Amino acid sequence: MDMPLTITTVMRHAEMYHGEREVVSAVSEQDVRRTSYSGVFRRARKLFNALQALGCQPGDRIATLAWNHQQHLELYYGVICGGYVLHTINPRLFDDQIAYIINHAEDKWIFTEPEFIPTLERLKPQIKHVNGIVVLDTDDDAGASFRNVHVYEHLLAGQDDTCAWPEPGENSACAMCYTSGTTGNPKGVLYSHRSLLLHTLSTAVLDAGGPGANDVIMPLVPMFHVNAWGLPFRAPLVGAGIVFPGRYMGNPQVVGRLITQEKVTYGVSVPTIWQMLLDHLDRSGGNLDTLRKAVVGGAATPLSLFERFRDDYGVELAQGWGMTELCSAGTLNVPGPDFELLDEEQRRQYPLKQGKPIFGLEVKITDDGDNALPWDGVAAGHLKVKGLTVCESYFGATEAESGVDANGWFTTGDVATIDPDGTIQVTDRSKDLIKSGGEWISSIELENCAMTHPAIAEAAVISAAHEKWTERPLLIAVKKPDQTVSREDLLAWFDGKVARWWKPDAVIFVEELPHTATGKVSKLTLREQYGDYLLAQNV
Ligand code: AMP
Repeated sequence: MDMPLTITTVMRHAEMYHGEREVVSAVSEQDVRRTSYSGVFRRARKLFNALQALGCQPGDRIATLAWNHQQHLELYYGVICGGYVLHTINPRLFDDQIAYIINHAEDKWIFTEPEFIPTLERLKPQIKHVNGIVVLDTDDDAGASFRNVHVYEHLLAGQDDTCAWPEPGENSACAMCYTSGTTGNPKGVLYSHRSLLLHTLSTAVLDAGGPGANDVIMPLVPMFHVNAWGLPFRAPLVGAGIVFPGRYMGNPQVVGRLITQEKVTYGVSVPTIWQMLLDHLDRSGGNLDTLRKAVVGGAATPLSLFERFRDDYGVELAQGWGMTELCSAGTLNVPGPDFELLDEEQRRQYPLKQGKPIFGLEVKITDDGDNALPWDGVAAGHLKVKGLTVCESYFGATEAESGVDANGWFTTGDVATIDPDGTIQVTDRSKDLIKSGGEWISSIELENCAMTHPAIAEAAVISAAHEKWTERPLLIAVKKPDQTVSREDLLAWFDGKVARWWKPDAVIFVEELPHTATGKVSKLTLREQYGDYLLAQNV
């Protein structure tokens, strides 16, 4: 039968066959709210009716500024299955970026936590297309002064819990996410029902030992970051229960307690969050006895994290690699039959590989001249991808800005090797960005800022390895002749000019910066020289 590949089929399937599976959300450090998939979808129907009553039209962008919890899941399904486009906004971006993406996406309504209302109030004069806001998790308007302000619970209360879902075509847009993992303004990635559904199925196929109907999943990655790596679709599809950490993702006490109390069996997160959790458990003497499997991704992960998971907590930690432009996961490290042929040291190092591509994703590596390099596990080149879940072009951007070449290959900005069996290992990054605790920092903007200092002749900012945040910006600068400036004064120069968490962690003054043959600062040389500087200095 010719049925469209839509997220609505996930909802229908889960409601029919897994309706009683529990959806748990942390609402305070101590308390949780419980419902089931049936409960979520019942409220999603009310939400869809409410959106229609608000005058929303098919294809309208409905934005969220929200943590991981039940209401956000209701928005995922009410908006997506309702024929609208769910635009999840990262509240950690700074004001100008948030205003830019709200305007660029032409968001009609913003569903927000009360704590982000001050941000929205500040941005109100800049925001152009928004009809109003809907406040989650409160009984009043939380002080919002927009033309239209609704309280989420009141909005739903008056609505019928039955509806006739529309039947959008599988290629219609249903969600969008802006990535700041590019130079310049954040870029919008628009997902179709088809691409999100295929991503959900393809990740489940590759992660065959991953969650099923007997599992309880905890997404420790934000629902505003690439749809929490697709877990809000995958969990209902396979019938796994789901436990949301609410606003407590960065609070290891709460996360650790939730895992034990709710018998979480499968979790995904970035290295920083996992590391914080293990540090807390080490100190408090806690355990991860219910956890069967964990996945780490989003940034390079040290071998020690895999070893601590395995040796101290008896949990298999598997690495994945992905991007906003890929609907999330591109690869997952699942050792194949060849693993047994490796020697002991190769097996020990194996978790450091990002793994094999999901079904429907093709990969290649090239040299600077776009010539394909061999899959020998040694040659490292620009990692390029094409496939069922890859973004064709950015929302509202030109073809030239898409990063996709004439033959349909998307340049990831990562540098990798590929083993003969297709397993990739990311060895470096060619894009000029730093990923700190899972969030992007632009080295170019920091360099521009440093270079406006009257005593600085040339500056380069590199990503340096950091114990807690995985990567932090390190500034390497050349002073103008006869000029003096202290490290402290140069760092103070960034105050008020960039977001506080963008400020470099340290400064190194050098006589000159290394340059490539084409005259560009050689970041590669600097990373080789100073990549471990912060670790060594214990900054
Ligand atoms: P984002 O679109 O924000 O999810 O960022 C995607 C980028 O994060 C990739 O292009 C990589 O640079 C980086 N990344 C994601 N997963 C990994 C990983 N497992 N190891 C190293 N870098 C990663």
